[in-house]
Amino acid sequence: MHDFHYVGGRLHCERVAIESLVNKFGTPLYVYSQHTLTDHFQKLDIALAPLNHLVCFAVKANSNLAVIRTLANQGSGFDIVSEGELRRVIAAGGDPRKCVFAGVGKTEAEIEFALRQGIYSFNIESEPELARINRVAARLKKTAPIAVRVNPNIDAHTHAKITTGTYENKFGIAFEQIERVYARASRLKNLRLRGLQMHIGSQLTEVKPFEQAVKKILPLAAKLADKYDLEFFSVGGGLGIVYNPALDSGSPEWWQTPVAKKILTPATYAATLVPLLQPAGLRILIEPGRFIVGNAGILVTRVEFVKRTGRKNFVIVDAAMNDLIRPAFYDSYHEIVPLRRKGGAMTESDVVGPICESGDFFCKNRPLAKVGEGDHLALLSAGAYGFVMASNYNSRGLAAEVLVNGNRAASVRERQPLAEIWKSESVPAWLK
Ligand SMILES: *Cc1c(COP(=O)(O)O)cnc(C)c1O
Repeated sequence: MHDFHYVGGRLHCERVAIESLVNKFGTPLYVYSQHTLTDHFQKLDIALAPLNHLVCFAVKANSNLAVIRTLANQGSGFDIVSEGELRRVIAAGGDPRKCVFAGVGKTEAEIEFALRQGIYSFNIESEPELARINRVAARLKKTAPIAVRVNPNIDAHTHAKITTGTYENKFGIAFEQIERVYARASRLKNLRLRGLQMHIGSQLTEVKPFEQAVKKILPLAAKLADKYDLEFFSVGGGLGIVYNPALDSGSPEWWQTPVAKKILTPATYAATLVPLLQPAGLRILIEPGRFIVGNAGILVTRVEFVKRTGRKNFVIVDAAMNDLIRPAFYDSYHEIVPLRRKGGAMTESDVVGPICESGDFFCKNRPLAKVGEGDHLALLSAGAYGFVMASNYNSRGLAAEVLVNGNRAASVRERQPLAEIWKSESVPAWLK
Protein backbone atom coordinates (compact mmCIF):
# COMPACT_ATOMS: atom_id res chain seq x y z
CA MET A 1 0.00 0.00 0.00
CA HIS A 2 1.11 3.53 -0.62
CA ASP A 3 -0.10 7.11 -0.71
CA PHE A 4 0.25 7.90 -4.43
CA HIS A 5 -3.11 8.12 -6.14
CA TYR A 6 -5.14 10.13 -8.64
CA VAL A 7 -7.45 12.87 -7.45
CA GLY A 8 -9.47 14.44 -10.26
CA GLY A 9 -7.17 12.86 -12.85
CA ARG A 10 -3.99 14.31 -11.28
CA LEU A 11 -1.44 12.19 -9.49
CA HIS A 12 -1.07 13.12 -5.83
CA CYS A 13 1.26 12.15 -3.04
CA GLU A 14 -0.91 12.20 0.08
CA ARG A 15 -2.79 15.51 -0.36
CA VAL A 16 -0.23 17.25 -2.57
CA ALA A 17 -0.54 17.37 -6.37
CA ILE A 18 2.75 16.19 -7.85
CA GLU A 19 2.50 18.83 -10.59
CA SER A 20 2.78 21.55 -7.96
CA LEU A 21 6.04 19.93 -6.79
CA VAL A 22 7.34 19.76 -10.36
CA ASN A 23 6.60 23.47 -10.80
CA LYS A 24 8.47 24.30 -7.63
CA PHE A 25 11.38 21.85 -7.67
CA GLY A 26 11.78 20.82 -11.31
CA THR A 27 12.63 17.35 -12.64
CA PRO A 28 14.02 14.72 -12.30
CA LEU A 29 12.48 14.71 -8.85
CA TYR A 30 12.17 12.04 -6.18
CA VAL A 31 9.01 12.41 -4.08
CA TYR A 32 8.58 10.48 -0.82
CA SER A 33 5.46 9.98 1.27
CA GLN A 34 6.07 10.25 5.00
CA HIS A 35 2.79 8.49 5.71
CA THR A 36 3.78 5.47 3.60
CA LEU A 37 7.09 5.26 5.45
CA THR A 38 5.53 5.33 8.90
CA ASP A 39 2.67 3.06 7.84
CA HIS A 40 5.06 0.37 6.59
CA PHE A 41 7.27 0.68 9.65
CA GLN A 42 4.27 0.35 11.95
CA LYS A 43 2.78 -2.60 10.07
CA LEU A 44 5.99 -4.56 10.62
CA ASP A 45 6.44 -3.34 14.16
CA ILE A 46 2.88 -4.36 15.08
CA ALA A 47 3.14 -7.74 13.32
CA LEU A 48 6.24 -8.50 15.40
CA ALA A 49 4.74 -7.17 18.64
CA PRO A 50 4.50 -10.65 20.23
CA LEU A 51 8.30 -10.78 20.14
CA ASN A 52 10.88 -8.73 22.00
CA HIS A 53 12.10 -7.12 18.80
CA LEU A 54 13.80 -4.20 17.10
CA VAL A 55 13.21 -3.09 13.53
CA CYS A 56 16.51 -1.85 12.08
CA PHE A 57 15.87 0.01 8.82
CA ALA A 58 18.53 -0.86 6.22
CA VAL A 59 19.92 2.59 5.49
CA LYS A 60 21.45 1.56 2.18
CA ALA A 61 17.95 1.38 0.64
CA ASN A 62 17.42 5.11 1.16
CA SER A 63 19.73 7.20 3.29
CA ASN A 64 18.16 10.65 3.00
CA LEU A 65 18.34 12.35 6.39
CA ALA A 66 14.60 13.05 6.35
CA VAL A 67 13.81 9.37 5.73
CA ILE A 68 16.15 8.32 8.54
CA ARG A 69 14.62 10.91 10.88
CA THR A 70 11.06 9.85 10.04
CA LEU A 71 11.95 6.29 11.06
CA ALA A 72 14.05 7.31 14.06
CA ASN A 73 10.97 9.17 15.32
CA GLN A 74 9.10 5.85 15.12
CA GLY A 75 11.72 4.21 17.32
CA SER A 76 13.55 2.46 14.50
CA GLY A 77 17.07 1.12 14.78
CA PHE A 78 19.33 1.03 11.71
CA ASP A 79 21.28 -1.50 9.70
CA ILE A 80 24.36 0.28 8.36
CA VAL A 81 27.13 -0.84 6.01
CA SER A 82 29.68 1.99 6.25
CA GLU A 83 30.99 4.79 8.44
CA GLY A 84 29.21 7.21 6.10
CA GLU A 85 25.87 5.60 6.84
CA LEU A 86 26.52 5.65 10.58
CA ARG A 87 27.40 9.34 10.37
CA ARG A 88 24.18 9.95 8.44
CA VAL A 89 22.14 8.18 11.13
CA ILE A 90 23.76 10.33 13.80
CA ALA A 91 23.33 13.51 11.71
CA ALA A 92 19.64 12.68 11.30
CA GLY A 93 19.14 12.18 15.04
CA GLY A 94 19.10 8.36 15.05
CA ASP A 95 20.49 6.36 17.96
CA PRO A 96 23.86 4.66 17.33
CA ARG A 97 23.08 2.25 20.17
CA LYS A 98 20.34 0.85 17.92
CA CYS A 99 22.69 0.36 14.96
CA VAL A 100 23.99 -2.92 13.57
CA PHE A 101 26.97 -2.75 11.26
CA ALA A 102 26.99 -5.20 8.31
CA GLY A 103 29.30 -5.61 5.33
CA VAL A 104 32.20 -7.80 4.29
CA GLY A 105 34.90 -5.13 4.15
CA LYS A 106 34.83 -2.97 7.30
CA THR A 107 38.04 -0.95 7.56
CA GLU A 108 39.96 -0.30 10.81
CA ALA A 109 38.88 3.34 10.72
CA GLU A 110 35.23 2.36 10.32
CA ILE A 111 35.45 -0.15 13.15
CA GLU A 112 37.07 2.43 15.42
CA PHE A 113 34.42 5.05 14.69
CA ALA A 114 31.57 2.58 15.26
CA LEU A 115 33.12 1.38 18.53
CA ARG A 116 33.45 4.95 19.80
CA GLN A 117 29.79 5.57 18.95
CA GLY A 118 28.73 2.51 20.94
CA ILE A 119 26.79 0.63 18.24
CA TYR A 120 24.63 -2.33 19.19
CA SER A 121 26.48 -4.97 17.18
CA PHE A 122 29.01 -5.65 14.46
CA ASN A 123 27.66 -8.31 12.14
CA ILE A 124 30.75 -10.31 11.27
CA GLU A 125 31.19 -11.73 7.79
CA SER A 126 34.58 -13.51 8.05
CA GLU A 127 37.20 -14.79 10.50
CA PRO A 128 39.81 -12.16 9.60
CA GLU A 129 37.20 -9.53 10.43
CA LEU A 130 36.74 -11.08 13.87
CA ALA A 131 40.46 -10.72 14.54
CA ARG A 132 40.52 -7.17 13.22
CA ILE A 133 37.63 -6.00 15.39
CA ASN A 134 39.20 -7.62 18.45
CA ARG A 135 42.49 -5.85 17.72
CA VAL A 136 40.89 -2.41 17.25
CA ALA A 137 38.78 -2.88 20.41
CA ALA A 138 41.87 -3.86 22.40
CA ARG A 139 43.72 -0.76 21.23
CA LEU A 140 40.78 1.41 22.35
CA LYS A 141 40.39 -0.58 25.60
CA LYS A 142 36.83 -1.41 24.62
CA THR A 143 34.70 -4.51 24.21
CA ALA A 144 33.09 -4.92 20.80
CA PRO A 145 29.60 -6.47 20.67
CA ILE A 146 29.42 -8.91 17.78
CA ALA A 147 27.14 -11.32 15.95
CA VAL A 148 28.26 -13.67 13.23
CA ARG A 149 26.35 -13.71 9.97
CA VAL A 150 25.42 -17.27 9.14
CA ASN A 151 25.24 -18.22 5.52
CA PRO A 152 22.58 -20.97 5.60
CA ASN A 153 23.10 -21.98 1.97
CA ILE A 154 19.46 -21.46 1.10
CA ASP A 155 18.34 -20.13 -2.26
CA ALA A 156 16.01 -17.17 -1.82
CA HIS A 157 14.63 -17.56 -5.39
CA THR A 158 15.25 -13.94 -6.24
CA HIS A 159 17.41 -12.10 -8.81
CA ALA A 160 21.05 -13.31 -8.92
CA LYS A 161 22.39 -9.86 -8.03
CA ILE A 162 20.36 -9.78 -4.80
CA THR A 163 20.78 -13.39 -3.67
CA THR A 164 23.09 -13.47 -0.65
CA GLY A 165 22.47 -16.66 1.28
CA THR A 166 24.14 -19.37 -0.79
CA TYR A 167 27.74 -20.59 -0.81
CA GLU A 168 28.20 -18.89 -4.18
CA ASN A 169 27.88 -15.51 -2.38
CA LYS A 170 30.55 -13.54 -0.57
CA PHE A 171 28.39 -13.00 2.52
CA GLY A 172 28.52 -14.56 5.96
CA ILE A 173 30.21 -17.68 7.30
CA ALA A 174 29.12 -21.16 6.25
CA PHE A 175 26.56 -22.79 8.52
CA GLU A 176 28.83 -25.78 9.22
CA GLN A 177 31.62 -23.55 10.53
CA ILE A 178 29.62 -21.36 12.88
CA GLU A 179 30.19 -23.32 16.12
CA ARG A 180 33.91 -23.39 15.61
CA VAL A 181 33.94 -19.66 14.85
CA TYR A 182 31.99 -18.84 18.04
CA ALA A 183 34.41 -20.98 20.04
CA ARG A 184 37.27 -19.02 18.54
CA ALA A 185 35.54 -15.67 19.05
CA SER A 186 34.83 -16.51 22.68
CA ARG A 187 38.59 -16.67 23.29
CA LEU A 188 39.17 -13.18 21.92
CA LYS A 189 39.19 -10.95 24.99
CA ASN A 190 37.83 -7.75 23.51
CA LEU A 191 34.75 -9.26 21.92
CA ARG A 192 31.36 -9.77 23.48
CA LEU A 193 29.28 -12.40 21.67
CA ARG A 194 25.92 -10.73 21.54
CA GLY A 195 23.92 -12.42 18.79
CA LEU A 196 23.61 -14.36 15.57
CA GLN A 197 22.55 -12.92 12.23
CA MET A 198 21.29 -14.03 8.81
CA HIS A 199 20.20 -12.25 5.61
CA ILE A 200 19.43 -14.48 2.66
CA GLY A 201 18.58 -11.97 -0.06
CA SER A 202 16.39 -9.14 -1.20
CA GLN A 203 12.97 -8.77 -2.84
CA LEU A 204 11.68 -12.11 -1.54
CA THR A 205 8.04 -12.53 -2.45
CA GLU A 206 7.40 -15.76 -0.58
CA VAL A 207 7.78 -16.61 3.07
CA LYS A 208 9.12 -20.10 2.35
CA PRO A 209 12.86 -19.27 2.08
CA PHE A 210 12.67 -17.24 5.31
CA GLU A 211 10.94 -20.14 6.99
CA GLN A 212 13.52 -22.64 5.73
CA ALA A 213 16.41 -20.46 6.84
CA VAL A 214 14.96 -19.78 10.29
CA LYS A 215 14.14 -23.46 10.78
CA LYS A 216 17.68 -24.37 9.83
CA ILE A 217 19.42 -21.73 11.94
CA LEU A 218 17.25 -21.39 15.01
CA PRO A 219 18.37 -24.60 16.78
CA LEU A 220 21.93 -23.43 16.30
CA ALA A 221 21.04 -19.97 17.62
CA ALA A 222 19.42 -21.50 20.70
CA LYS A 223 22.45 -23.70 21.35
CA LEU A 224 24.89 -20.80 20.97
CA ALA A 225 22.67 -18.54 23.07
CA ASP A 226 22.85 -21.07 25.89
CA LYS A 227 26.57 -21.51 25.64
CA TYR A 228 27.62 -17.89 25.15
CA ASP A 229 24.70 -16.00 26.64
CA LEU A 230 23.63 -14.43 23.35
CA GLU A 231 20.95 -11.76 23.48
CA PHE A 232 19.60 -11.55 19.92
CA PHE A 233 18.94 -13.29 16.64
CA SER A 234 18.64 -11.12 13.54
CA VAL A 235 16.59 -12.52 10.69
CA GLY A 236 17.89 -9.88 8.27
CA GLY A 237 15.79 -8.02 5.72
CA GLY A 238 14.58 -8.99 2.29
CA LEU A 239 10.80 -8.61 2.37
CA GLY A 240 9.72 -7.96 -1.20
CA ILE A 241 7.24 -5.44 -2.52
CA VAL A 242 4.91 -5.29 -5.51
CA TYR A 243 6.53 -3.53 -8.45
CA ASN A 244 4.12 -4.74 -11.09
CA PRO A 245 0.59 -4.95 -9.75
CA ALA A 246 -0.65 -6.33 -13.07
CA LEU A 247 1.39 -9.47 -12.44
CA ASP A 248 0.13 -9.77 -8.92
CA SER A 249 -3.53 -8.95 -9.27
CA GLY A 250 -4.50 -9.60 -12.86
CA SER A 251 -5.44 -5.96 -13.36
CA PRO A 252 -3.35 -3.67 -15.53
CA GLU A 253 -4.15 -0.60 -13.50
CA TRP A 254 -2.49 -0.27 -10.13
CA TRP A 255 -4.81 2.47 -8.91
CA GLN A 256 -7.74 0.08 -9.20
CA THR A 257 -6.02 -2.61 -7.19
CA PRO A 258 -5.18 -1.26 -3.75
CA VAL A 259 -4.82 -4.81 -2.48
CA ALA A 260 -2.64 -6.97 -4.66
CA LYS A 261 -3.18 -10.68 -4.29
CA LYS A 262 0.29 -12.04 -4.18
CA ILE A 263 2.34 -10.01 -1.81
CA LEU A 264 4.34 -11.01 1.20
CA THR A 265 2.60 -8.95 3.87
CA PRO A 266 3.99 -8.38 7.37
CA ALA A 267 1.00 -10.38 8.62
CA THR A 268 1.93 -13.44 6.49
CA TYR A 269 5.57 -13.06 7.40
CA ALA A 270 4.80 -12.80 11.11
CA ALA A 271 2.20 -15.59 11.07
CA THR A 272 4.90 -17.99 9.87
CA LEU A 273 7.94 -16.70 11.70
CA VAL A 274 6.66 -15.48 15.07
CA PRO A 275 5.60 -18.96 16.28
CA LEU A 276 8.99 -20.32 15.23
CA LEU A 277 10.97 -17.52 16.86
CA GLN A 278 9.01 -17.00 20.06
CA PRO A 279 10.08 -20.16 21.95
CA ALA A 280 13.77 -19.24 21.57
CA GLY A 281 13.24 -16.32 23.94
CA LEU A 282 15.80 -14.21 22.11
CA ARG A 283 15.47 -10.58 21.13
CA ILE A 284 14.63 -10.60 17.40
CA LEU A 285 16.05 -8.04 15.02
CA ILE A 286 14.73 -7.49 11.51
CA GLU A 287 16.51 -5.35 8.89
CA PRO A 288 14.01 -4.30 6.23
CA GLY A 289 15.00 -1.71 3.64
CA ARG A 290 12.94 -2.08 0.48
CA PHE A 291 9.75 -3.06 2.32
CA ILE A 292 9.68 0.21 4.25
CA VAL A 293 10.77 2.67 1.59
CA GLY A 294 10.29 1.03 -1.83
CA ASN A 295 6.68 2.02 -2.43
CA ALA A 296 7.10 5.25 -0.46
CA GLY A 297 8.92 7.00 -3.29
CA ILE A 298 8.47 7.86 -6.96
CA LEU A 299 10.73 9.43 -9.57
CA VAL A 300 9.08 12.17 -11.61
CA THR A 301 10.42 13.00 -15.04
CA ARG A 302 9.59 15.30 -17.94
CA VAL A 303 9.04 14.09 -21.49
CA GLU A 304 11.57 15.88 -23.70
CA PHE A 305 10.85 14.27 -27.05
CA VAL A 306 8.76 11.55 -28.57
CA LYS A 307 10.76 9.84 -31.30
CA ARG A 308 8.89 7.61 -33.72
CA THR A 309 11.14 5.51 -35.89
CA GLY A 310 8.50 3.59 -37.77
CA ARG A 311 9.48 0.52 -35.83
CA LYS A 312 9.48 1.94 -32.32
CA ASN A 313 8.00 4.70 -30.23
CA PHE A 314 10.67 6.17 -27.96
CA VAL A 315 9.59 8.44 -25.14
CA ILE A 316 12.76 10.35 -24.25
CA VAL A 317 12.62 11.71 -20.70
CA ASP A 318 14.92 13.88 -18.58
CA ALA A 319 15.58 11.18 -15.98
CA ALA A 320 18.19 8.56 -16.78
CA MET A 321 19.99 5.48 -15.51
CA ASN A 322 22.22 7.75 -13.41
CA ASP A 323 19.07 8.73 -11.44
CA LEU A 324 17.54 5.24 -11.23
CA ILE A 325 19.73 2.35 -12.27
CA ARG A 326 17.46 -0.52 -11.26
CA PRO A 327 16.06 -1.37 -14.73
CA ALA A 328 19.59 -1.47 -16.22
CA PHE A 329 21.19 -3.22 -13.24
CA TYR A 330 18.55 -5.68 -12.07
CA ASP A 331 16.22 -5.88 -15.10
CA SER A 332 13.65 -4.45 -12.76
CA TYR A 333 10.15 -3.31 -13.51
CA HIS A 334 8.80 0.10 -12.54
CA GLU A 335 5.21 1.05 -13.18
CA ILE A 336 5.16 4.24 -15.30
CA VAL A 337 2.14 6.52 -15.16
CA PRO A 338 1.36 10.05 -16.35
CA LEU A 339 0.89 12.84 -13.83
CA ARG A 340 -2.28 13.77 -15.74
CA ARG A 341 -4.47 10.87 -16.53
CA LYS A 342 -6.09 11.09 -19.93
CA GLY A 343 -8.23 8.53 -21.70
CA GLY A 344 -7.44 7.25 -25.14
CA ALA A 345 -5.48 4.47 -26.71
CA MET A 346 -2.27 3.08 -25.32
CA THR A 347 0.87 3.13 -27.45
CA GLU A 348 3.57 0.55 -27.16
CA SER A 349 6.57 2.59 -26.05
CA ASP A 350 10.13 2.50 -24.77
CA VAL A 351 10.78 5.09 -22.07
CA VAL A 352 14.45 6.03 -22.31
CA GLY A 353 16.84 8.56 -20.80
CA PRO A 354 19.32 10.88 -22.53
CA ILE A 355 22.46 8.96 -21.50
CA CYS A 356 24.68 7.48 -24.19
CA GLU A 357 24.12 3.84 -23.24
CA SER A 358 21.66 1.34 -24.67
CA GLY A 359 21.09 0.27 -21.07
CA ASP A 360 19.58 3.67 -20.33
CA PHE A 361 15.91 2.71 -20.44
CA PHE A 362 13.05 2.47 -17.97
CA CYS A 363 10.80 0.17 -19.95
CA LYS A 364 10.62 -1.48 -23.36
CA ASN A 365 7.60 -2.18 -25.58
CA ARG A 366 5.16 -1.28 -22.86
CA PRO A 367 1.64 -0.01 -23.53
CA LEU A 368 1.62 3.57 -22.25
CA ALA A 369 -0.86 6.39 -22.36
CA LYS A 370 -0.02 8.76 -25.21
CA VAL A 371 2.29 11.54 -24.05
CA GLY A 372 3.98 14.48 -25.71
CA GLU A 373 6.77 16.93 -25.07
CA GLY A 374 6.35 18.74 -21.75
CA ASP A 375 4.14 16.04 -20.18
CA HIS A 376 5.33 14.36 -17.02
CA LEU A 377 5.62 10.73 -16.04
CA ALA A 378 6.08 9.09 -12.66
CA LEU A 379 8.14 5.95 -12.13
CA LEU A 380 6.53 4.24 -9.17
CA SER A 381 8.12 2.20 -6.39
CA ALA A 382 11.41 4.08 -6.77
CA GLY A 383 11.96 4.78 -3.07
CA ALA A 384 14.40 1.93 -2.42
CA TYR A 385 17.77 1.58 -4.17
CA GLY A 386 16.82 4.60 -6.26
CA PHE A 387 18.45 7.89 -5.35
CA VAL A 388 21.10 6.13 -3.23
CA MET A 389 22.53 4.52 -6.37
CA ALA A 390 22.52 7.76 -8.36
CA SER A 391 25.76 8.91 -9.96
CA ASN A 392 27.11 11.84 -11.93
CA TYR A 393 27.57 9.77 -15.10
CA ASN A 394 27.47 11.98 -18.18
CA SER A 395 28.12 14.89 -15.78
CA ARG A 396 24.49 15.00 -14.82
CA GLY A 397 23.68 16.60 -11.47
CA LEU A 398 22.00 14.51 -8.78
CA ALA A 399 18.21 14.84 -8.68
CA ALA A 400 16.29 16.77 -6.03
CA GLU A 401 14.28 14.99 -3.32
CA VAL A 402 11.06 16.10 -1.63
CA LEU A 403 9.21 14.75 1.40
CA VAL A 404 5.42 15.06 1.61
CA ASN A 405 3.45 14.97 4.83
CA GLY A 406 -0.31 15.46 4.41
CA ASN A 407 -0.73 18.75 2.58
CA ARG A 408 2.85 19.85 3.26
CA ALA A 409 5.94 19.30 1.13
CA ALA A 410 9.55 20.17 1.84
CA SER A 411 12.76 19.90 -0.12
CA VAL A 412 14.93 17.27 1.59
CA ARG A 413 17.73 17.50 -0.95
CA GLU A 414 18.40 20.34 -3.34
CA ARG A 415 19.16 19.57 -6.94
CA GLN A 416 22.96 19.36 -7.24
CA PRO A 417 24.40 22.42 -9.00
CA LEU A 418 26.50 21.38 -12.00
CA ALA A 419 29.70 23.11 -10.85
CA GLU A 420 29.64 20.91 -7.73
CA ILE A 421 30.21 17.84 -9.87
CA TRP A 422 33.83 18.75 -10.62
CA LYS A 423 34.61 20.98 -7.67
CA SER A 424 37.00 18.45 -6.06
CA GLU A 425 38.88 17.88 -9.30
CA SER A 426 41.98 19.78 -10.38
CA VAL A 427 44.38 20.11 -13.28
CA PRO A 428 48.07 19.46 -12.42
CA ALA A 429 50.43 22.42 -12.76
CA TRP A 430 52.39 20.79 -15.59
CA LEU A 431 49.35 20.93 -17.81
CA LYS A 432 48.86 24.64 -17.36
C1 LIG B 1 20.64 -4.98 2.05
C2 LIG B 1 20.51 -5.60 3.40
C3 LIG B 1 19.29 -5.53 4.08
C4 LIG B 1 18.05 -4.93 3.49
O1 LIG B 1 17.56 -5.63 2.41
P1 LIG B 1 16.11 -5.31 1.82
O2 LIG B 1 15.90 -6.30 0.77
O3 LIG B 1 16.13 -3.91 1.32
O4 LIG B 1 15.14 -5.47 2.95
C5 LIG B 1 19.25 -6.06 5.35
N1 LIG B 1 20.33 -6.65 5.93
C6 LIG B 1 21.51 -6.72 5.29
C7 LIG B 1 22.65 -7.35 5.97
C8 LIG B 1 21.64 -6.21 4.01
O5 LIG B 1 22.80 -6.30 3.37
